[in-house]
Amino acid sequence: MRGSVAIVGGGVGGLALAGGLHRAGWAVTVFERADALPAVGTGLGIWPSALRALDRLGLGDVARERGLPQADGAMRRPDGSVIGTIDVQRMRRRHGEGVRLLSRPALLGLLAEALPAGVVRFGATVADPAALLPAYDVVVGADGIRSATRAAMFGDRFPLRYAGVTAWRGTVAMDVPAGGETWGRGRKFGLTPQASGVTNWYAAVAAPEGFRPAEGDLVALRRWFGDWHDPIPALLERVDAAGVLHHDVHMVTPLPSYVRGRSVLLGDAAHAMTPDLGQGACQALIDAVALVDALTRSADVPSALADYDRLRRRPTQRMAAMAARAGRLARVRRFLGARDAVLRAVLSVGPPG
Ligand SMILES: Cc1cc2nc3c(=O)[nH]c(=O)nc-3n(C[C@H](O)[C@H](O)[C@H](O)COP(=O)(O)OP(=O)(O)OC[C@H]3O[C@@H](n4cnc5c(N)ncnc54)[C@H](O)[C@@H]3O)c2cc1C
Repeated sequence: MRGSVAIVGGGVGGLALAGGLHRAGWAVTVFERADALPAVGTGLGIWPSALRALDRLGLGDVARERGLPQADGAMRRPDGSVIGTIDVQRMRRRHGEGVRLLSRPALLGLLAEALPAGVVRFGATVADPAALLPAYDVVVGADGIRSATRAAMFGDRFPLRYAGVTAWRGTVAMDVPAGGETWGRGRKFGLTPQASGVTNWYAAVAAPEGFRPAEGDLVALRRWFGDWHDPIPALLERVDAAGVLHHDVHMVTPLPSYVRGRSVLLGDAAHAMTPDLGQGACQALIDAVALVDALTRSADVPSALADYDRLRRRPTQRMAAMAARAGRLARVRRFLGARDAVLRAVLSVGPPG
């Protein structure tokens, strides 16, 4: 089947879907509220299953070429002792390849390169996604965690849930020997090399929703993490307060369907999850390919959207539940020995791939 599609949101999932449907001969319009692609952004780990989704869009090799292979990493305690290691070789043996690290701008850039000029309308905020329905065969909500499309489909019946944790992140101009996470009492600090001379960092702290440290973010971060193992204190000394992003972590309440009539959700709009497994962008890419497949092989829109919902809702909601469980483990403040044993067991089973 071919037709016309309006995609609300030109993020990871929206641009991937646009590329796939454009290749399949659909008339595609992406409405993106930002004025341009972002120039800066966080690093994203692209797992083997998402690299295979990019292969289906003809973009896997470019992503592998531009991405940094993730090296072995460790989960540590604040004194630097190792709780367990992230075994990249095992992932390569199991899935044929490892994780590639790409910055969000790099990923969005390569997805956008696959689209002809004019497909993405920048500076185009969609206030009422339902108003697009008369002009298009399908309206896709790829508009992220605070999706206007989800609200148009379900009202306020499924509000966002606070995950019990508030998080800070940014990049810093320094190299670190390896990525990894360090888990303290209800707090964690993570590092991911992004490119030569650039490291992503993030910190998560269990706190009530809306918590803002009175002394300011950077002073608080240095107080909480400044006596943790190297290179965390040196890194925090180099962080520029102006570049620190802070947000409470929320997730989407599991929806009974990703589809309503000719409207459909993908990516964070459908199933925003906590970042604990680093899977949100990966799942958005896999959603996009599944929706391209469903729309191109089905004879009509309702059966295509039903196929997509059947294929993607359960696995993504399961992944979101796993991420939430991982987040709860990271917020533990007592029985740290038992927590470490669980974490080691999880690491020995290996990541989802
Ligand atoms: C700190 C952190 C680390 C992460 N690390 C990883 C990782 O390692 N690996 C991984 O896979 N994922 C990771 N994620 C998750 C990942 O970033 C998201 O899951 C992913 O970006 C979701 O893609 P999306 O296309 O659904 O939404 P988004 O990428 O959020 O895109 C939504 C787009 O819609 C636009 N928009 C919103 N509303 C409107 C509107 N009304 N009209 C028009 N446009 C609109 C927005 O401007 C935006 O461009 C991480 C997230 C965070 C916060």
